[in-house]
Amino acid sequence: MSVSIRVFAYFSLTPKNQKYLDALIIVMSAMSNREGVVVNSKETAVIVVDMQRDFCYDDGALFVGEQVRRIIPKISALVEGSRSAGLQLVFTQDWHPQNDEEFAIWGRHCVQNTIGAELIDELLSEDAFLVRKRKYSAFFETALESYLRATGITTLIITGVVTNICVLHTAIDAALRGFGILVPEDCVAALSDYEQEYGLYHIENVLKGRVISSDAISFQ
Ligand SMILES: [Zn+2]
Repeated sequence: MSVSIRVFAYFSLTPKNQKYLDALIIVMSAMSNREGVVVNSKETAVIVVDMQRDFCYDDGALFVGEQVRRIIPKISALVEGSRSAGLQLVFTQDWHPQNDEEFAIWGRHCVQNTIGAELIDELLSEDAFLVRKRKYSAFFETALESYLRATGITTLIITGVVTNICVLHTAIDAALRGFGILVPEDCVAALSDYEQEYGLYHIENVLKGRVISSDAISFQ
């Protein structure tokens, strides 16, 4: 609040200045909502959603675009920091049978045991719990919930692609099950700015998740 104190000193409080001051306080309180979050390392897991070749490489079947390239180093840094802090790591893998009905919407992608379905090389996942999923949500017909319950996890940091599809559906199912949700906005990507925004809007305003920058996350 040091900025508002300084403003106080420079302006006499005419009604007009009061209006500016009120506006400044609103902006500052919005900024403070995006301030750092300290997560409990024992009760928090990082979920990396669908960082697979078909979504992340430009010759992939469903390349998300340059925006997915930008999130890779951010996710990598977050995963490394989380790994050092002892957090549980979960990687999901879109994993479709041949002729899956979802291909009517998106075309063929992430077919089981194909190169396109492999996790990308840039993110180390050997020590992670792997969730292979057929639908958008990582909870649907998978062992994810029982794994999280068994390991005492209460909060999820959700990253990956696509913000308004598999990330959002996973966040919705997590919220329904009572997990806290944290989404680093620089670690998720969508096909367009509009889809990125509405995915994050839903997470923040409908699910009451927290949307922050990855470098604002620290561990205890
Ligand atoms: Zn899919």
